[in-house]
Amino acid sequence: MSETTQVVVVGGGYAGVTAANRLTKRDDVAVTLVNPRPQFVERIRLHQRVAGTHSAVVDYASVLADGVRLEVATAERIDAAGRRLVLADGGTLGYDYLVYAAGSTGATPTVPGAAEHAFPLTSLEEADRLVPALAAAGPAARVTVVGAGPSGIETASELAEQGHAVTMVCGDLLGPYLHPNGRRAVTAALARLGVAIVAGPGATVTAVTADAVQLADGRDLPSDVTVWTAGFRAAGLAARSGLSTDDAGRLRTDETLTSVDDDRIVAAGDAGTPSGLAYRMSCQAAGQLGAAAGDTVLARLAGREPRPATVGFVGQCLSLGRGDGLFQFAGRGDVPVRAFLGGRRGSRAGAWLKELICRSTVLQLTWEARRPGLIRYPAFIGDPRRPAALRDRQQETVHDTVQDTMQETTAPDVVPAASA
Ligand SMILES: Cc1cc2nc3c(=O)[nH]c(=O)nc-3n(C[C@H](O)[C@H](O)[C@H](O)COP(=O)(O)OP(=O)(O)OC[C@H]3O[C@@H](n4cnc5c(N)ncnc54)[C@H](O)[C@@H]3O)c2cc1C
Repeated sequence: MSETTQVVVVGGGYAGVTAANRLTKRDDVAVTLVNPRPQFVERIRLHQRVAGTHSAVVDYASVLADGVRLEVATAERIDAAGRRLVLADGGTLGYDYLVYAAGSTGATPTVPGAAEHAFPLTSLEEADRLVPALAAAGPAARVTVVGAGPSGIETASELAEQGHAVTMVCGDLLGPYLHPNGRRAVTAALARLGVAIVAGPGATVTAVTADAVQLADGRDLPSDVTVWTAGFRAAGLAARSGLSTDDAGRLRTDETLTSVDDDRIVAAGDAGTPSGLAYRMSCQAAGQLGAAAGDTVLARLAGREPRPATVGFVGQCLSLGRGDGLFQFAGRGDVPVRAFLGGRRGSRAGAWLKELICRSTVLQLTWEARRPGLIRYPAFIGDPRRPAALRDRQQETVHDTVQDTMQETTAPDVVPAASA
């Protein structure tokens, strides 16, 4: 290893920027952040970019520590054996440690016609493709939002507030994360904005055409512009680099966020799955995981054992247009509780809190850039049920391994006998 440790961070979102800033704690670490765009994207405001109420971008200069070098490029492959990152333009970057924080994207819909006719909304580029489509369709356009998670709810609200005729197709349930109390309040807020909600058995999209959305129960909903917000998966870089990933493409790591394949690779944010028990994809988890990923690398450099990451949740905060919002509180284990802030009487407070949270996510990056190590997450905020879940998971893995071994050892006897 050279005297200066080279750390490459792939992905400049909430997790990657936090990790990169944290790593500048040491003067003998050279940090390079690789990201396809020269500006930081506030993904949690992409629906606002579509509606024209916020640009959803921030200059990297204000959120990155001076010591971090930004390389505007797309990573094509991680060559773990050669400890280098291969870029799409053919260049390479050698590393001693790599932080994998490439985030998530929309899951490619398998529904016929969706890839051709629906507009996904998970990246800046996708938001910028949707804007002219909405403008071309005109103010009276019928807009269908498919998906009823936070991005679907926030997008439907924002577009309805702009005067569009919006229908939300939810599948079984609107806001599956929400407690029934919170769900009732969100349903009422959407109704106030004029959003038509289609939910329940049969409310699953089976086909999308240029001017309609077909549902499993045979209904045909006219739709001039269809926005697809259902399903997220991790960026594909880890899988195409031959690293171990789960079904959603997240890099498999241990509790210190270290890749199960290579202790020089550490994952953070939506892109990783610690112990196969992934945290909810969210900027709430991404910031905490980014700090933990940075700490893991710093611990190894200091010759210490890295600590398990601690991630705590407080709930989910939804914007419901500019004048309304709802905070669904949750226990530390990310299970929603009865309490929420919002509803008809608390709508202003909910909107104010959501705006505060959006601003504070960026502010936290700025603070960490100025004082790396400032933002700490004490162990007591973590999910109290996680240790038990990890033990169950370990037992399942041992059980599966024993089953596989038994099958392998009995198979040679069975096959010749059966074929004889
Ligand atoms: C419309 C919308 C609303 C949302 N609202 C909320 C919300 O209210 N609350 C909440 O907690 N979460 C919300 N989310 C989810 C949240 O945005 C993500 O969970 C969060 O951004 C994850 O952070 P991250 O740093 O892991 O990844 P990202 O923010 O996705 O950043 C990853 C970065 O890596 C880059 N990248 C990807 N591949 C490569 C590559 N090959 N080479 C180089 N760079 C690469 C990407 O371009 C991106 O800049 C919302 C998401 C959307 C789309």
